[in-house]
Amino acid sequence: GNGLMAGKRGLVLGVANNRSIAWGIAKACSAEGAELAFTYQGDALKKRVEPLAAELGAWVVGHCDVTELQTVDAVFAELEKRWGRLDFVVHAIAFSDKDELTGRYVETTRENFLRTMDISVYSLTAVAKRAEPLMTDGGSILTLTYYGAEKVMPHYNVMGVAKAALEASVRYLAVDLGGKNIRVNAISAGPIKTLAASGIGDFRYILRWNEYNSPLKRVVTIEEVGDTALYLVSHLSRAVTGEVLHVDSGYHVVGMKAVDAPDI
Ligand code: NAD
Repeated sequence: GNGLMAGKRGLVLGVANNRSIAWGIAKACSAEGAELAFTYQGDALKKRVEPLAAELGAWVVGHCDVTELQTVDAVFAELEKRWGRLDFVVHAIAFSDKDELTGRYVETTRENFLRTMDISVYSLTAVAKRAEPLMTDGGSILTLTYYGAEKVMPHYNVMGVAKAALEASVRYLAVDLGGKNIRVNAISAGPIKTLAASGIGDFRYILRWNEYNSPLKRVVTIEEVGDTALYLVSHLSRAVTGEVLHVDSGYHVVGMKAVDAPDI
């Protein structure tokens, strides 16, 4: 890299393993000189996150579960103590009960609806609120969304409703924080086989369908999402906020999808 991110410090939330989108973003930012802080959700993921952090010389701040806001507070207290300020945050967190990522949306339980919204939507606002005072020199907050926010996708169900709320949150946060030169954007990524995606019914079929119907005739990688993320957290996108940028091989622009794609 050429040091596009030299001197920039960023918090990356959502690395679970080396297939995580957050990992693709972390690699891209680190290659351009960013200094990174990671968190992990529970001891099971600690073992996976620590060696990945070491690969990039990143700091592992500690456990962070967004349903326990005191753990979010603890992370930001550590960031303030050690760094004093922050330039960017990558929020790559979502969760829903996988029993409800199949079948009909109408069957969603109230309990899972609230839990999905808490983890996948409210957490961005909770993080933005805590990042704001540390972003003394402006900043960039980036989250991850999916086309299921805009159109009904099979099996995506309550997560589609959550992503719609997440995208609206990006716009409201962009207005709230814009006066401090803090930008808030989302990448709408095409389907990628990650741990979270493995909960979604028929994911292989979704991948093949996207490959067949996207203008670029292929699916996307975490490295490709990482490169677009690099643009959004760097000064290159300094006039861009409240935006949802699709990194999906162009899938979202195609109005008339094939009904008889071969081999799927
Ligand atoms: P992943 O499983 O690698 O990452 C999901 C992360 O969310 C994990 O690190 C997990 O620890 C974290 N998480 C879940 N519940 C949490 C909680 N209560 N507190 C703290 N962290 C919690 O999967 P991914 O696909 O890289 O997901 C990252 C983001 O990208 C998600 O927002 C997802 O919806 C979004 N996204 C994924 C795809 C895809 O096809 N994989 C497409 C578009 C958007």
